[in-house]
Amino acid sequence: MSQYKHVALVGLGLLASSISLAMRRADMTAKITGTARSKETRETALALGLVDEVFSTAAEAVQGADLVILCVPVGAMAAIAEEIAPHLAEGCTVSDVGSVKQAVAEALGPHMPDGVHLIPAHPMAGTEKSGPEAGFASLFDNRWLLITPLPDSSHSAVERLEVFWTQLGSNVELMEIEHHDLVASVISHTPHLIAYTMVGVADGMNRVAKTEVVNYSAAGFRDFTRIAASDPTMWRDVFLNNKDATLEVLGRFTEELLALQRAIRLGDGDFMFDYFTRTRDIRRSIIDAGQDTEAADFGRGKPE
Ligand code: NAP
Repeated sequence: MSQYKHVALVGLGLLASSISLAMRRADMTAKITGTARSKETRETALALGLVDEVFSTAAEAVQGADLVILCVPVGAMAAIAEEIAPHLAEGCTVSDVGSVKQAVAEALGPHMPDGVHLIPAHPMAGTEKSGPEAGFASLFDNRWLLITPLPDSSHSAVERLEVFWTQLGSNVELMEIEHHDLVASVISHTPHLIAYTMVGVADGMNRVAKTEVVNYSAAGFRDFTRIAASDPTMWRDVFLNNKDATLEVLGRFTEELLALQRAIRLGDGDFMFDYFTRTRDIRRSIIDAGQDTEAADFGRGKPE
């Protein structure tokens, strides 16, 4: 049973391919059309059966769709919205999976014709892999999907989208758009920036040989490298578009780092012990909430 008859996926990478596979797994009967920038991605998506039809332009892919999901980097959304606007069916829902919500809503909003429901959304699920072959049907299972309705979003259109994502395996929550960007910055964006920085530090330290960094990496560094292997375009766009929240969280991060630096300099073991005990409790609550396991599954992602 599908909420929608025809779903158009604009962008056919990790997120879009996982949506398609999860839709098939849920036996949704909806027709799926899609488009991507390169011919190679379009052909791969078709060959993998992710889409029933593939088009070289977004304008063609969205025609007749009652749900359009933009699955492209945040910085690409405005141009696509402008391109698809004249081709959207009356009454259709336009949503997205972008990691930033306020900037996306501002980029899409002005292009949306009357009678089209714009409902931004963000699955709190992903991996460091990209492309149509990276997707898997269980990506959204028991992960949160945050919908950030706009003040004029139709209640029934939001409810329909909620049911759709629930069928894909997600737990759905509605969130105020500005708050979403702060939450995303704390739990995803700034941690990515810190991982990128730590890997950059190791790369730049010529007193530690590259082979040592690679061979002995299990000691903490390895998990940073997984995160720091994420797509450069996607993450550049996240930081360009979630500037305020990221700077706020980074400010707090710097203060905490300085406090720990001071504790190390002063030999204040009690401070460090208390701090690390508190952070371990957070890890425990994530496991208790079913959002991770104890397993040291480095390279977590597509199950083989
Ligand atoms: P991805 O695997 O890199 O796929 C991106 C897709 O967008 C590709 O099919 C690409 O086509 C297409 N694309 C890129 N620029 C385009 C343009 N200018 N016009 C048309 N198509 C374009 O990315 P993803 O991981 O699925 O991420 C998609 C969105 O989901 C992003 O906004 C990201 O912020 C969000 N998100 C990602 C994650 C994650 O963990 N990855 C999690 C939650 C949300 P080509 O292959 O032809 O280049």
